[in-house]
Amino acid sequence: MDTAVSRTLLLCENLSFGYEGRPVLSGLTFSVANGDRLCVVGENGSGKSTLLKGLLGLIPVMGGLVKTIGLKPGDIGYLPQENSVQKDFPAAVFEVVLSGRQNRRGFAPFYTRADKAAAEESLAMMGLGSLKSACFRELSGGQRRRVLLARSLAAAGRILLLDEPASGLDPVVQNDLYKILERINTELGITIIMVSHDIEGALRLSGKVLHLAGRQLFFGSADSYRESEPGRIFLHKTEGSA
Ligand code: ADP
Repeated sequence: MDTAVSRTLLLCENLSFGYEGRPVLSGLTFSVANGDRLCVVGENGSGKSTLLKGLLGLIPVMGGLVKTIGLKPGDIGYLPQENSVQKDFPAAVFEVVLSGRQNRRGFAPFYTRADKAAAEESLAMMGLGSLKSACFRELSGGQRRRVLLARSLAAAGRILLLDEPASGLDPVVQNDLYKILERINTELGITIIMVSHDIEGALRLSGKVLHLAGRQLFFGSADSYRESEPGRIFLHKTEGSA
């Protein structure tokens, strides 16, 4: 039977992460099921990026337990926050997307036919087929973000970790991006874990919310988050600032 327990991909219990022996995030107890859309929210410095880094294994677990169920290397795609190096990347769109497959290649010198097909598919999913040969750095901000999303999608077998995917984009482009993320989730069955400042947009997309403030303030459905005390306070604070 396809129970909630059997669909669990990620289980965290009293988990903590930190730097140089000093915890910055502790007491995390939450789970992510196959097909979930989880939004991680919180003020600046609350530990959102630290959590993503921890889940990616870039920083060690300081305490507690994190368990992945049925996940293998290459199942997770990651979209980091946009930085200036990426903006100036002098490569064709297709090359940028294909490079997302690097983590699956090991030491093999060439990309395989499957790598190229995955890159083509994720470009098509993003509506970028016609820009395949365009130069990445000449694209608009919204197009660039979609290319980087296509890159992480090409890498993702089952889960996408997104760090502020919509930040810095105008509201129309943000909305398009959320629609694409929704299709990635519903049509491809990819689980989405997303950090976002754009709380209202993210809540429209997300089924679940994890609210951090150095510790876990809330974990549950987006609907119950709106009614909760941390949800009401945070939504009120961020009103109009997204
Ligand atoms: P958020 O993503 O919510 O803005 P971060 O996860 O970036 O928060 O940061 C959480 C805390 O960890 C902050 O106090 C920040 O200063 C600290 N921190 C982040 N990265 C490092 C690092 N590489 N070394 C030491 N402290 C860090």
